[in-house]
Amino acid sequence: MIIYIIVIYNKKDKEKMQLPNKTCNLCPRLIDFRQKNQEKFPNYFNGAVPSFGNIDAKILIVGLAPGLNGANQTGRPFTNDYAGDILYPVLKEKGFATGNYQKRSDDGFTLINCRISNAVRCVPPQNKPLPCEFNNCLPFLVYEISLMKNLSYIVSLGGDSHRAIIKAFNLKQADFKFAHGAKHKISDTLTLIDSYHTSRYNVNTNRMTRKMFEDIIDMII
Ligand code: SF4
Repeated sequence: MIIYIIVIYNKKDKEKMQLPNKTCNLCPRLIDFRQKNQEKFPNYFNGAVPSFGNIDAKILIVGLAPGLNGANQTGRPFTNDYAGDILYPVLKEKGFATGNYQKRSDDGFTLINCRISNAVRCVPPQNKPLPCEFNNCLPFLVYEISLMKNLSYIVSLGGDSHRAIIKAFNLKQADFKFAHGAKHKISDTLTLIDSYHTSRYNVNTNRMTRKMFEDIIDMII
């Protein structure tokens, strides 16, 4: 991990690096979408959604991007997103969260030894980020991972998230193919576990079920 950070940033850049603030403006298309949403939904969060959970966690779950009426509304990953309706209860059941998930960022729900982020931190139109937007946001993921000194497992939700993580570690995509339930050793200390996304589409088409996500989390325990 340390080697890759050196590849991506020189020392001066790394010292300047920080996680994005709410008004990050690196992606013009997403800024345009944000401004439209600020007019349409003035009470929404409408910004780069910060990660949820402690930086010293053992597990990092990486999704695709905030949903318009989910994380983009509440300002917390997967909160009020359909995907959170499976993700959060399962994390609680498996001992990685406490409290009552009520689809609000102020519900007191707390992650235990787990952190949640997204490959792209601002809501994209039609929930589809462009390749340049993945690239713009990637340094934040790389930097965040470098801060997680106790990190042992990364769970990628969906193929796009998987590919962002492989890129973050400067590994060859061809050597690490996405497959639901696959485990990839991506460094001496880190294992990547692939999961289908707990999205509404995947659940409604039976590609993904709560039991399948429970099994993914059981791979960590
Ligand atoms: S997607 Fe990432 S890089 Fe792009 S504006 Fe949002 S926080 Fe910045």
